[in-house]
Amino acid sequence: MDLHDRLLVQLSTRDVYDARTLGGQPQSGLVFTGQAAHDAVRMVRRQGYAGPVLADRRRYAGSGRVSGTAGLSAHWIADQVEARVTIPLTDSGYIGRNDTRALRTILDQASRWDDVVAVLPLHADWLGPDLPALTAAIAGYGGPVALVAEDAASGARPEAFRLGLPLLSAGPEALGALAHGAPWAAVGVREVLRHLYPEHPPADGGWRRGGARSALVPERLAFVPVERLPEGPCPCAACHGRPLRRLAGAGELEVNTHNVTVLHRLHARMSRARHRRHWWDERLGAPPHHVEAAGDRVARPGVQAGGGAGLAGPEEP
Ligand SMILES: [Zn+2]
Repeated sequence: MDLHDRLLVQLSTRDVYDARTLGGQPQSGLVFTGQAAHDAVRMVRRQGYAGPVLADRRRYAGSGRVSGTAGLSAHWIADQVEARVTIPLTDSGYIGRNDTRALRTILDQASRWDDVVAVLPLHADWLGPDLPALTAAIAGYGGPVALVAEDAASGARPEAFRLGLPLLSAGPEALGALAHGAPWAAVGVREVLRHLYPEHPPADGGWRRGGARSALVPERLAFVPVERLPEGPCPCAACHGRPLRRLAGAGELEVNTHNVTVLHRLHARMSRARHRRHWWDERLGAPPHHVEAAGDRVARPGVQAGGGAGLAGPEEP
């Protein structure tokens, strides 16, 4: 049970009963999210789930997010070990723009443990103008890290996958990270788990709420809300050639089963490719891969004021 070349599925703890369905693909695994994530890990282990399982506390997201300077919890690491995670993740806070103190705090404290992954939830600038400082800090640290890339204020997703490092809360670009040599990367089962939205989104942007169902359209490498799915058959093992559109009337588990089936089909194809990066670049070449970010956004300013898993409210994955 290792994390080599694994495309993980990132879930909420409330998805625990569907976890074995969603994480049942070969080369798959699970990441549970939130404060009770280790309890969900314990539960799937008790049920005999044998694949890799991680626990992401996700203190770095939502309006009540914690800063990266807050410090890491040894209890959180111990709870994960006790629950039999594959490798513990730090409960890092958020690393804001230019916040080198937060970055340094997380890496310094993570180095107290031999076998943990330092989670780095990053403002988009760390993957743009501040990338040299980030890569130097990671190289100096020397241990394993996992990135969570915040959406830019424009709604665009920074191209974190190019670093070839593990990603949490990613979209289809998780495959890109694996193509670039990352040992593992996690795709969220719903929008709020496929993004790290800025704490204060621009007033004119309408960010889509996390609850809506979106289905992965394989040829576009993008998640599209089910009410806007294209015509045409889906060849995946969950749809069996039925039209993709049918998912508009399907339940969330059925939509997500299609999503993980398509992702793992793509992963298997990538694994057979002679040059993984070329394969990924070719996939990106035809359609704009930022459709995901655009598809996840709607131009309705009122949307963000909603409660639930919306941006403005406390994030409850
Ligand atoms: Zn399908």
